[in-house]
Amino acid sequence: ACNSISKVRHSTSYEVYDAKMHEKEMFEARLLDGISKAFSEHQFKLVFQPKYNVHGKTPKLASAEVLIRWKHPEFGLVKPDFFIPLLEENGLIRQLDRYVWREAAAQVRRWKKEFGYSIPVSVNVSRVDIFDPDIVDFLQKTIEENEISPSDIHLEITETAYTDNVEHIVSVVKKLQKAGFMVEMDDFGKGYSSINMLTTLPLDALKLDIEFIKDIAENNRGKNLLGCILEMAKLLDLTVIAEGVENAKQYFLLKNAGCDMIQGYYFSKPLETKEFEKLLAVAN
Ligand code: C2E
Ligand code: MG
Ligand code: MG
Ligand code: MG
Repeated sequence: ACNSISKVRHSTSYEVYDAKMHEKEMFEARLLDGISKAFSEHQFKLVFQPKYNVHGKTPKLASAEVLIRWKHPEFGLVKPDFFIPLLEENGLIRQLDRYVWREAAAQVRRWKKEFGYSIPVSVNVSRVDIFDPDIVDFLQKTIEENEISPSDIHLEITETAYTDNVEHIVSVVKKLQKAGFMVEMDDFGKGYSSINMLTTLPLDALKLDIEFIKDIAENNRGKNLLGCILEMAKLLDLTVIAEGVENAKQYFLLKNAGCDMIQGYYFSKPLETKEFEKLLAVAN
C-alpha cells in the first residue's frame, strides 16, 4: 500500500492525482483506526542500526539508533517516514515515542544482564515531544524503572525542531542534559540550520543528514563544507556523526576528515534485535 502512496507525487494527471489523494486519505484513516490495536497487539517493533566510532584503526561498535517499524496485519511493513508525520498531526506521537523509549530502556537493561555490558542507544525525539511538559520526568522515570543510567540513552532531536521555538527548546535541552542525557541534533544540514542555533544550544553531537552525505565524495563544495563543519564542531566540542554512509568512498572521506562516528548501510542496515545481538556478542 505504501508503494502506491509514494507514486502519488509522480502522477501527472490531475484526476489520477485526485483519486490517489483520496486513496491516501483512506489509507491514513485506516492506519489511525488501527492505532490502539497496534499498541495492544505489539505491531510496533524496534530495530537497531549500529553506529561505529571510527577513530581507531578498526571501526568500533559504539552505539545504536533505535528506529521504529510498524508491522501492520493488513498493510505489511509501514515505513516511519509515512506514519510518524501522521501520528504527529494527530496527537499520537507522544504515545508512540514513550513506548519506544520504554522498550529501548528495557532492552538496554536486558543486554546489560545478558552480556555484562551495554552500549548506549539513541532514540528519536519528535519536534512535538519537545512541547510535552513531562518529557524530562518521563525519561528519568523510565531509566530509573529499568535501573539503567541516563548515559545509556542518547536523544536525537531533529534539526527542524529547533526552528520552532528556540528559547523553549534551549531550556528543554538544558534540562535533559542536566538530567544526564546526551542530546544529538539529528538531520543536520537538511533544514534551515542557523549558526546561531549551534552557539546558543548546548548540544553534545551533530548528526549530518543523509542528503548532505549522498554526493559528498563526488562534490568538492561538499568536501569543503564538510571540513568547515568538522572544524566548527571541534571548536564547539561537538561529536560529529554521519548517517546514511553507503560506500567505502564516503566512509574514508569522512574518517580521514575527522568525523567521529559513522552509521549507514556501508556498515549495516537497521537490524532486528536478534541480529543486533550477534554484533553485541562479539563487540566487547
Ligand atoms: P532518522 O532519525 O534520520 O533515521 C535515519 C533513517 O535513515 C532511517 O530510516 C534509516 O533506516 C535510514 N538509513 C540509515 N542508513 C542509511 C543508508 O546508508 N542509506 C539509506 N538510504 N538510508 C539509511 P527509517 O528507519 O525509515 O526512519 C526514517 C525517519 O523516521 C527517521 O529519520 C526519524 O526521523 C523517524 N523515526 C524513526 N523511528 C522513530 C521513532 O521511534 N520516533 C520518532 N519520533 N521518529 C522516528
Ligand atoms: Mg535519528
Ligand atoms: Mg538522522
Ligand atoms: Mg535523517
